[in-house]
Amino acid sequence: MGLTKAKKEKVDVMALNKPKIVILGAGYGGLMTVTRLTKYVGPNDADITLVNKHNYHYETTWMHEASAGTLHHDRCRYQIKDVINQSRVNFVQDTVKAIKIDEKKVVLANGELQYDYLVIGLGAVPETFGIKGLKEYAFPIANINTSRLLREHIELQFATYNTEAEKRPDRLTIVVGGAGFTGIEFLGELAARVPELCKEYDVDRSLVRIICVEAAPTVLPGFDPELVDYAVHYLEENGVEFKIGTAVQECTPEGVRVGKKDEEPEQIKSQTVVWAAGVRGHPIVEEAGFENMRGRVKVNPDLRAPGHDNVFILGDSSLFMNEDTERPYPPTAQIAMQQGITVAKNLGRLIKGGELEEFKPDIKGTVASLGEHNAVGVVYGRKLKGTPASFMKKVIDNRSLFMIGGLGLTLKKGKFKFF
Ligand code: FAD
Repeated sequence: MGLTKAKKEKVDVMALNKPKIVILGAGYGGLMTVTRLTKYVGPNDADITLVNKHNYHYETTWMHEASAGTLHHDRCRYQIKDVINQSRVNFVQDTVKAIKIDEKKVVLANGELQYDYLVIGLGAVPETFGIKGLKEYAFPIANINTSRLLREHIELQFATYNTEAEKRPDRLTIVVGGAGFTGIEFLGELAARVPELCKEYDVDRSLVRIICVEAAPTVLPGFDPELVDYAVHYLEENGVEFKIGTAVQECTPEGVRVGKKDEEPEQIKSQTVVWAAGVRGHPIVEEAGFENMRGRVKVNPDLRAPGHDNVFILGDSSLFMNEDTERPYPPTAQIAMQQGITVAKNLGRLIKGGELEEFKPDIKGTVASLGEHNAVGVVYGRKLKGTPASFMKKVIDNRSLFMIGGLGLTLKKGKFKFF
């Protein structure tokens, strides 16, 4: 039965007047916002649009595994449409090119979107600190595409090694810049993957070098010293060489120049230089004109950008201060997901009325993996290493799947090989 003309006009006016919420990025922060938002905003309260470059979400926190080749990249991603309420959320697969704050507009590769409320969750990009050649010649660990490329590249070096008359050691030398969280997790995977590659391509393990170069005076800064010692000892036992207090000075097609302060630099010939020494906020956020520090916007306690009452920024593009330490919280998936819940609630309150909530991070712990069956970390204040830490790491990975896609997604993509 059709609508009467008067009723139809009323419905059209309501649709026109409905505020438009646009969420950029279907990472941990953006996807968490979208999956929670439909609880706080009814179908007549707002139109919700989610924009993401790909039709899938990838687990950024598993990219070290996909990069080393210990976990297939398809295990690390799932379709966005499978976890959003498609009757409530309009998903647009497109690339964000610019945000025009004054015009309340987002420019996409294939069109434009007007918004009343904007949520920015575009994540981070590698930070190369202006070091020459890194952008051009080093591999980042960032997303499915970079991980697939790195995995294939490493494999190609092994495959090529025995085909050449002159055996080139640089094909079997892998340099990892950065011994922070990402660098150490990748080294843990490499330590497991290299023996497999050696077997597959008939290469003597003793010919392969895995070198980690870290400018800071320690591995895993901020971790408990006992756990750091454990991680370093384990990785060294598995063939990783550490050059600590040593900076990467330049990257070239032949390898890297590294050096300690006041010492002669050293050239390391390597066909595989991996840069895992830091991230900065997405350049689109900087270009939009938000005040930022290395691309990250210091957000208000309610997660809105200062001076922009209709714009929320979360995850790696935001900077949230820890009042106890007076330092920003490190950018993590844990925080991005928790922020997503607060942003969803606050959008509901902005639209339907009510006081906005202040974001209070609830840090449950941090665990860095050292391959599939080893890890170090602190969970609920307890130090863990070895199998218990590795068990907890998988619980954490599964929990993030559960929070976004429930039991179905957890069973489909989760990690259940605990020992
Ligand atoms: P992301 O999850 O990175 O999502 C950003 C989204 O935006 C992506 O879907 C991307 O495709 C999309 N996007 C980007 N640009 C555009 C564009 N122009 N147009 C459209 N879409 C775009 N954190 C932890 O808490 N625990 C860990 O154990 C941990 N391990 C890590 C291991 C590795 C190897 C790495 C790299 C990071 C790890 N982190 C970990 C950090 C964590 O992954 C990030 O803090 C988290 O991903 C940030 O979430 P986000 O929502 O801000 O961005």
